[in-house]
Amino acid sequence: MKYIFSIFGNPISHSKSPLMHNLAFRGLGFDGCYGRYLLEDGTTLRDTFFALGLKGVNVTVPHKEAAYRACDVLDGFALKVGAVNTIVERGGKLYGYNTDAPGFLKAVTALDAKKILFLGAGGTAQSTAVILKEAGYHVTILNRSASRLEKFREEGFTVYTHEDFVPASYDLIVNMTSAGLEDEQLPAPQELLTAIMPQAKACMDVIYGRETPFLKLAKTYGKQTKDGSDMLLYQGVIAFEYFTEQRYSFEEILPHMKRAFDFN
Ligand code: NDP
Repeated sequence: MKYIFSIFGNPISHSKSPLMHNLAFRGLGFDGCYGRYLLEDGTTLRDTFFALGLKGVNVTVPHKEAAYRACDVLDGFALKVGAVNTIVERGGKLYGYNTDAPGFLKAVTALDAKKILFLGAGGTAQSTAVILKEAGYHVTILNRSASRLEKFREEGFTVYTHEDFVPASYDLIVNMTSAGLEDEQLPAPQELLTAIMPQAKACMDVIYGRETPFLKLAKTYGKQTKDGSDMLLYQGVIAFEYFTEQRYSFEEILPHMKRAFDFN
């Protein structure tokens, strides 16, 4: 095998990325293979990458900031948001990119929305809010705790905690938290959600693979819903473009990777 790739994260057993990338390698006839690696200590990311003889990696929770620090060269957007989820080795140097945010942007483009409310202010909310703002969307951030909101406030976003939130009308409400990932929690108090959901055109969750309490609640209001599958798929396609040095177009890669979602 000429090129070896992997996903680094902790936990990692649930990741769909190996299946997505291997289906695309096989479908497009690219001489590559993609595995998974449980990386416990983010500070070992760079040494682990070289010890395994890799050409590229995707990086997931909780190592996206460690990946940012491990790179020699950062793409402009990754530099701005301080988080890397895709690394490619070229000539002994590590090049870092963020494909989560453009993947999310592409998924949102399919919805008719300009005014967006994010529930959550973690790492994923950070990079995706910046790319949406740059693309002309109006993004408001609502988070459980105040501490993570400061960075968003400094970047010019309107921010609220659950306590000081003033309900308004939003086209799209997105669950950007991990509430509902492995529990039955809503990302915000139900009274707060029921005050804003009726006016929304659509509700989206970045969690994929299960119907979260947030999306279940949105359906009771007859809202259009979307989970995080398209975001995952599109970030993978964009990462694959970097892995293969843009040899294939987005449209060529997409149908092969999409087949990963036919498997449970
Ligand atoms: P972080 O750990 O950086 O941030 C977590 C956020 O969730 C914080 O804002 C936190 O609020 C909030 N939160 C957690 N639990 C609750 C709760 N019970 N109620 C209310 N708020 C809560 O996580 P990430 O940004 O890295 O990931 C967020 C989600 O995005 C995850 O579910 C992840 O699986 C998903 N994701 C999906 C991708 C895809 O391709 N579809 C790609 C990347 C991520 P507080 O500040 O108060 O603690």
